[in-house]
Amino acid sequence: MTQGTLSEQEVKTARLIGKLVGEEKGPTLIFFGGIHGNEPSGVVALERVFEEIIRNNYPLKGAVYGIRGNIPALLRKKRFLETDLNRIWYKTQIELILRKREEDCSIEEKELLGIHKEIFTILETAAAPYYFVDFHTTSSPTLPFITINDALINRNFSSLFPVPVILGIEEYLEGPLLSYINELGYVSLGFESGQHNTDAAAICSIAFTWLTMIYSGFLDEKHVDVENQIKALQKYAESNRTFYEVIYRHAIKETSTFKMLPGFKSFDYIRKGTFLALHNSKEIKAKKDTIIFMPLYQDQGEEGFFLIREIPSWVLSFSASLRRWKTDTLLTMLPGVSWSQPSKEQLKVNLRVARFFSKPFFHLLGYRNKTADRSHLILSNRERVAKKEMYRNTFWFK
Ligand SMILES: [Zn+2]
Repeated sequence: MTQGTLSEQEVKTARLIGKLVGEEKGPTLIFFGGIHGNEPSGVVALERVFEEIIRNNYPLKGAVYGIRGNIPALLRKKRFLETDLNRIWYKTQIELILRKREEDCSIEEKELLGIHKEIFTILETAAAPYYFVDFHTTSSPTLPFITINDALINRNFSSLFPVPVILGIEEYLEGPLLSYINELGYVSLGFESGQHNTDAAAICSIAFTWLTMIYSGFLDEKHVDVENQIKALQKYAESNRTFYEVIYRHAIKETSTFKMLPGFKSFDYIRKGTFLALHNSKEIKAKKDTIIFMPLYQDQGEEGFFLIREIPSWVLSFSASLRRWKTDTLLTMLPGVSWSQPSKEQLKVNLRVARFFSKPFFHLLGYRNKTADRSHLILSNRERVAKKEMYRNTFWFK
């Protein structure tokens, strides 16, 4: 560990939870814990795993970093103090914050600067391939699950873990840290380990850390009881390892009153007409049979709940093939469809043409994060920015 003889208070407020570098070359793992201050399970898990590695002096390949997220909010056990640290990671906002004087920055903007600096120092000094994992917990009871931006590198790596995987949440959220890292082209997984401050959340975060170390080739599996880590995740995930996509976000404004009815749990099946919540005294009911996801049972947060649906496995493999064949190149032969930049990362689609294609069609090809001007849709492609070459020799991407 890097903290040496620091006092307990200094340890709790250090940006680095720990840093371990192996004698042999290998991947670089970057874990974040406590980006939300009321979600300390990830921090605790990383401390435990780092300690165990040091105690047993396991040989390592590559490097691992544990990064503490919102330190002032962690100390106060609050999601955030001024702004949500997981909603300000978009390029224009970051450029703005980087140009500000420090005294003009909000508490969370200062945290962003600290973390941003750490990430880029690591990328400049540590070797590829890179794996980013961001630990969270939820206010409602939940199975542990992974959230990813839908690029094949993320899909393939996620599918190694025996937990459900949620695609497409970034389309509904502005500025989560992982979308920013995903745009840099690296494997980046969000892991929601369970309900805030529960044993299950701690156990699952620890298991997830060990398995990430093993699957990435950082740690040899002979040092860890892999079967037990897998079993722990399987048990809490109730053997569910389905892929889902987000189809609805129930947004709430700071000024509105929102009360979720008690008893809902992520991944619960909901019947049409089920009374879900009171929003500004209005009854919110399910419009069709659906699956509820991350119902909000705390004061802070901008999402009342999400709805998700299962993605059939044939759709997953069909879309993977379409992407490998770069089918989107054919699309640009259509009138009204063109690349918006020479790098072919974004597709510009005339609205008159776009209405002939449904949103799921573009999703199949790896396009997400749609922004529009009056006459065009701009669609970003997760595949074309992914730094696939970096992962070419891994067992999970071959
Ligand atoms: Zn969180």
